[in-house]
Amino acid sequence: MQKGQVVKLDRGYPLVRTDGGRLVRCEHATALVKGEQVRAVIGDWVEVAVPEGHDKGIIEAILPRTRAFVRKDPTERALPQVLAANFDRVFVAQPLSDMNFKRLERELVLAYETGAAVTVVLTKADLAESEDAVRAVRDRVRELAGPAAETVVVSAADPASVEAVRVLVPAGTTAVFIGKSGVGKSSLVNLLVGHEMQETAEVREGDGKGRHTTVSREMIPVPGGGYVVDMPGVRGLGLWDADAGIEAAFADVEQLAEQCRFRDCRHLDEPGCAVRAAVDSGELSEARFASYQGLRQETAQVKERREEARRLRGEKASTSGKRRPPKSRKGKRG
Ligand code: GDP
Ligand code: ZN
Repeated sequence: MQKGQVVKLDRGYPLVRTDGGRLVRCEHATALVKGEQVRAVIGDWVEVAVPEGHDKGIIEAILPRTRAFVRKDPTERALPQVLAANFDRVFVAQPLSDMNFKRLERELVLAYETGAAVTVVLTKADLAESEDAVRAVRDRVRELAGPAAETVVVSAADPASVEAVRVLVPAGTTAVFIGKSGVGKSSLVNLLVGHEMQETAEVREGDGKGRHTTVSREMIPVPGGGYVVDMPGVRGLGLWDADAGIEAAFADVEQLAEQCRFRDCRHLDEPGCAVRAAVDSGELSEARFASYQGLRQETAQVKERREEARRLRGEKASTSGKRRPPKSRKGKRG
């Protein structure tokens, strides 16, 4: 058995770099993927067996993840989907002159939820109208991301701007890029590695839509630095466990909520609600409050569905004669 790290996902097959430096294409041991849908993801440390005369290695175990980027599986109702593991930083990329702040709020929640350092990368700075426009966006992002997140402004036309990103990926660390397709992630990765690593989507004249390119997910070494992982083709960013992420991404609202009269205030029509008061006074924008409530509701719903699925599984298990440990009862709050 050898230890190794998944450095690439190639058409579903993990490519593992063993401690010995060998690259082995792997499949999962049946015992590992039976029942629970556990799959090794990019960044995972794994134990691999390479049987004699076998063309593929076999992943026997996935070691505990220090960090994971998790979203709700877009095809299933209540399953988590891990997209990357064991990274140190999440870069959230958005184009400076075409920001989607609502999406940014969601991306920040998912990024903060991982516990990694978070940096917002504002791309395509060359397309910005003016310095003032750049400043205005930066201010707005700082407002949304809070003091914990750094913001860097880059332009593919200005390679020097990319240095601000490079210093955030020192040797021995791994950073993950998230962001909608077309925001300029691959261009940025190419600049970081100094050569064309990834196919860059060509933008069709007129509709601005990128040509669809399939790129395999991989850990790409930055010369003199650590690794970057681009996550192409990640469309939906449904929340999974997101309480901590929401708390971090909406620290301003959470702070207000602490002043609410009821600890479990839903900020709807409860008396003594400090959050609603802040919205009424204009201290907290209506839009931000709506985002907060929406994301909280989304994660609460996922949690509910998850519980329901667990209950259903429990019933099934009991009828088929399997025993399960008794479910722990959660104490009611307040
Ligand atoms: P990805 O889908 O996030 O990886 O985005 P790409 O790196 O493929 O870039 C999408 C499009 O934006 C391509 O046409 C790039 O040439 C263009 N692009 C990327 N970075 C910049 C930039 O800094 N300035 C400008 N003007 N265009 C850029
Ligand atoms: Zn309240």
